[in-house]
Amino acid sequence: MAKQPMLKFVTVGKEMPQKRQADQRKEDFAEIYGEYAREKAEEQAGRCSQCGVPYCQSHCPLHNNIPDWLKLTAEGRLREAYEVSQATNTFPEICGRICPQDRLCEGNCVIEQSGHGTVTIGSVEKYITDTAWEEGWVQPIAPSVERAESVGIIGAGPGGLAAADMLRRAGLQVTVYDRYDRSGGLMVYGIPGFKLEKDVVVRRNEQLEQGGVEFVLNCDVGQDITFAEIREKHDFVVVATGVYKSRELPGPGAGADGIVRAIDFLTASNRKGFGDAVPEFDSGELNAEGKRVVVIGGGDTAMDCVRTATRQGATSVKCLYRRDKANMPGSQREVQNAEEEGVDFVWLSAPKGFTGDKVDGVMVQKMRLGAPDVTGRQSPEVIEGADYVEGADMVIKALGFEPEDLPVLWDTPELEVTRWGTIKTNFATHETALENVFAVGDIVRGASLVVWAIRDGREAAEAILERVRTGSVMAAE
Ligand SMILES: Cc1cc2nc3c(=O)[nH]c(=O)nc-3n(C[C@H](O)[C@H](O)[C@H](O)COP(=O)(O)OP(=O)(O)OC[C@H]3O[C@@H](n4cnc5c(N)ncnc54)[C@H](O)[C@@H]3O)c2cc1C
Ligand code: SF4
Repeated sequence: MAKQPMLKFVTVGKEMPQKRQADQRKEDFAEIYGEYAREKAEEQAGRCSQCGVPYCQSHCPLHNNIPDWLKLTAEGRLREAYEVSQATNTFPEICGRICPQDRLCEGNCVIEQSGHGTVTIGSVEKYITDTAWEEGWVQPIAPSVERAESVGIIGAGPGGLAAADMLRRAGLQVTVYDRYDRSGGLMVYGIPGFKLEKDVVVRRNEQLEQGGVEFVLNCDVGQDITFAEIREKHDFVVVATGVYKSRELPGPGAGADGIVRAIDFLTASNRKGFGDAVPEFDSGELNAEGKRVVVIGGGDTAMDCVRTATRQGATSVKCLYRRDKANMPGSQREVQNAEEEGVDFVWLSAPKGFTGDKVDGVMVQKMRLGAPDVTGRQSPEVIEGADYVEGADMVIKALGFEPEDLPVLWDTPELEVTRWGTIKTNFATHETALENVFAVGDIVRGASLVVWAIRDGREAAEAILERVRTGSVMAAE
């Protein structure tokens, strides 16, 4: 069984007692924790009016039973709150940290809508489960029966891991394959550590491993093992490979040195956080220190890049986006965080090209918002004669991600995909065009959110368990 490298992230060590670890984590990640303590959690939870029309719950992709766990928290019954919270969510402490709550549960809290400020649902959720870890209430999976059916899961991101957790709890034999050396997907290598501390993900991986989930890491399906071999080895397969093909920038000079992909920049930074050797970071190629950085894009990945560049000691950080602030795809809360940290947003601006063999500037064309397109969104139009050059020593492309061509890479043309390259699945069961092959998360939805990947993974697991229950599948010899 492939082992995960020992956690070296910041000062939290595996050998530290749980309580000390928690205190240390709070010190290391003051930004995430702030002053959030029991009194605050109880006070916030007590603000829930138990309105009886829980829009927060219906706007949570997992339909978490939010009013109930808020009530239990307000009454100081934290262990029960934890039990209710974990019943619908595989990783509540992760969602509590990184869900864009302003667009989901909190944005639909009736107290928020009546102008009195939302109950901080995400922070309470995080607090409940962090406490559960500290108190030892979170235990390894211990299935009451062992079953013969086996499941191969390709991709150890939140979608794959949520499925692994449910299937293993039911006693199935679960193997997770991932091409990275650590499991967690974008939770370890995409999302920066200042939003999601890596030891929070690593302890979940360890919990799954202790519960009998087998991890085969450094294993690229399509190269190190074929998809057909995986299908042969397992009764069921879950494809949870995410989307990793970066959208490219057009224009002259787009291939110049110093223009880098967001995923490479963020992965290098996260690897450094783990204490890995990262030559591209040490050489300066993927390190923003002392540079004028321009990030191109307006989504959450762009926000993570600007905030990471700031922390690395960039001399200036600008974010170029072709629409205006109101039309950004990213979370407004993230924009506000970035602005407070000194990031300069250059709205209504698009790159036309780049200057220098080693990039030294971005040719910017100014835009205005024109008539709405078929989706109702105003299209950006070029303002002629307003171009200028924005000085830059490093340009980070954060224009979004697309799926890799899995039917070709895996030599499986029968795996049906949409015209965007995402895998086609049955809406309710997540089964693909291939019998007993399911697909979940970003590879089905396109770039989305952790909470949606968790939901998909749980639903696919339920569909597999239903098939096992109804006996329509024979376990492999
Ligand atoms: C920079 C960034 C920041 C983000 N921030 C947030 C946030 O704050 N909140 C939020 O909710 N969402 C955020 N997201 C989105 C979120 O991370 C994804 O929606 C989520 O991780 C998707 O989960 P997944 O399981 O589908 O895929 P992933 O997390 O991408 O995991 C897929 C896994 O499959 C593996 N894999 C791929 N191909 C193969 C193969 N051929 N063989 C073996 N293994 C393979 C990969 O190595 C990876 O580990 C962010 C995304 C990015 C890029
Ligand atoms: S999972 Fe996300 S959307 Fe649901 S309650 Fe938690 S923070 Fe809100």
